[in-house]
Amino acid sequence: MACLICEVPGEHICSDCIKNISPRYISFDLDNVRINAGALYSDSTAALVVLAKEENSFYAREALADLLYIGLQEVISESKFTSHMLIPMPSSKTANRKRGYKHSVSLTHLLMKRISLDKNQKNVFYLGDFLAIKRKTIDQSQLNAEQRRENLQGAFEFAQSSTGKKMLETQSWGLLLVDDVMTTGTTFKEAIRALRIEGFEPFAALCACVSGKRFY
Ligand SMILES: [Zn+2]
Repeated sequence: MACLICEVPGEHICSDCIKNISPRYISFDLDNVRINAGALYSDSTAALVVLAKEENSFYAREALADLLYIGLQEVISESKFTSHMLIPMPSSKTANRKRGYKHSVSLTHLLMKRISLDKNQKNVFYLGDFLAIKRKTIDQSQLNAEQRRENLQGAFEFAQSSTGKKMLETQSWGLLLVDDVMTTGTTFKEAIRALRIEGFEPFAALCACVSGKRFY
């Protein structure tokens, strides 16, 4: 076995790389929704994201789920809800087809698994893959903040085929948005907008890591 990030033999992620990732709770507000992250975006977290997203690495995804769990624990400690719906950020159909999996959904599954390992966790969690991209968008990674905003503006919708809407209406849920990285906040903002259109207010958002010092 070798470190996923630096390839030094030993653990899946070596102690030096964990030190570089420097897991810690970071939170701030975006459009009146509390964003919660487990680390800053860095070369080490970027490597994990690429491995999970593009190479379907289980251990990289597990490490990202651990970072998401840092934020989740804080959120839950302040939550008035006992049932929480984890809503992954959507990827384009093209990206899903190319990868053969929905990256954020897979990541949320591992977050659920991480939650289930905590025997003290009394809250109920569901995964609601409710958001979809309704028009053509392009890969965001090379775009600046303004281009990202234009790329995603009005692009998400509550998936019409899902029974999710009924589910959300029948009881009181703490809605938690889930993503790997928050860069400019465009994706979360668009998800918040799409949920508010349907009359749903997100309780908080979780990301494994956050870049951009302007937010906190
Ligand atoms: Zn390492």
